[in-house]
Amino acid sequence: MFKHSTWLEIDLAAIRSNIRRLQEISGKPVMAVVKGNAYGHGAVEVSRAAQAAGARWLCVSRMEEALILRKAGIEGPLLVMTPTLPGFAADAAEMGISLVVHEPGLAKELAAAAGAAGKNLAVHLKFDTGMHRLGVQEQEALDFARLVYSLPSLRVEGAMTHFARGDEPEAPTTHLQIAVFKRILSALEATGLRPPLVHAANSASALYFPAATFDMIRPGISLYGLHPDALAPLPEGFRPALSWKARLVSLKTIAAGSGVGYNYRYTTAGTERIGVCPTGYADGLRRKLNSNQVLIRGKKVSVIGSVCMDQVMIQLDSVPEAAIGDEIVLIGRQGEAEIRAEDLAAAWGTSNYEVATGLDHRLARIYSG
Ligand SMILES: *Cc1c(COP(=O)(O)O)cnc(C)c1O
Repeated sequence: MFKHSTWLEIDLAAIRSNIRRLQEISGKPVMAVVKGNAYGHGAVEVSRAAQAAGARWLCVSRMEEALILRKAGIEGPLLVMTPTLPGFAADAAEMGISLVVHEPGLAKELAAAAGAAGKNLAVHLKFDTGMHRLGVQEQEALDFARLVYSLPSLRVEGAMTHFARGDEPEAPTTHLQIAVFKRILSALEATGLRPPLVHAANSASALYFPAATFDMIRPGISLYGLHPDALAPLPEGFRPALSWKARLVSLKTIAAGSGVGYNYRYTTAGTERIGVCPTGYADGLRRKLNSNQVLIRGKKVSVIGSVCMDQVMIQLDSVPEAAIGDEIVLIGRQGEAEIRAEDLAAAWGTSNYEVATGLDHRLARIYSG
């Protein structure tokens, strides 16, 4: 008996194998980036799989995400990568969650809040080597490190930076960023302030800039078998972990010249067989007109008219054998045919990162492997 009308299938064996591949290629321990609900794949299950594959750390962007993992019983090193405000300092210290400090004021406030709670907080120093987002720039790097080391209730555990153009292997700026980071690290080393764990490389830079791997790598997109960019594809041996599926729930013959769906953005040319696929923009399918296709019975067919919140209409004239209950694939393989997250990204004018993180929480996630 079928249960879900639409769902995601996530192959945890693929995630474990991708992590092992990253460890082999880089020769470094992996900090698995599981922010954004593990790029839509489900943070708790992916975190467990990552740890089983040997990932030493888990990284998220917010304390809210870190707390979900701890509440699910996930232990071990866990880093929150974007600024955490002092109201969360005591919780972080209590639960062994490491935070990033990116400017002196926040470092002082976190130290004060942890101290007031009678706790110690582990922190990673964030340096801006050229991304020009978060972090302390080279000229203030040493003073910043001295300050943070001097603050009671903080324990400096790591140092990090982030690359702006790691997914452009030809861009010279990543080499410049690596050079700036190395100068900062040398200055810290010379004063005995180099933290034990230095990390910088996301997926693309870990794969394309071996000099960027330092003590650990910090990959996200590649864990899921998704390409960092068309310019920085994954090497052989990675495989995508996620499929998005649905079941055909309606199939009708509609008379020629009929408007279909909201605002009649599609009109039948002749008598047409139109099906309903029960997944829509609230699940993460974009409302861009004429951009979507799905697989059914191993064939690619078009989504027609407006994407609704919970469903879309599909044109089934080319699939006479289609029947209610048939499996529909929005991302993944069916027979010889395949639609990749990268194909949706191209059709929508965005990246596969946004496609994957846009998969809504309400979609059932079914794990295998
Ligand atoms: C998201 C993120 C990563 C992972 O990036 P990918 O390109 O997905 O590998 C690493 N570091 C930081 C700071 C990030 O925000």
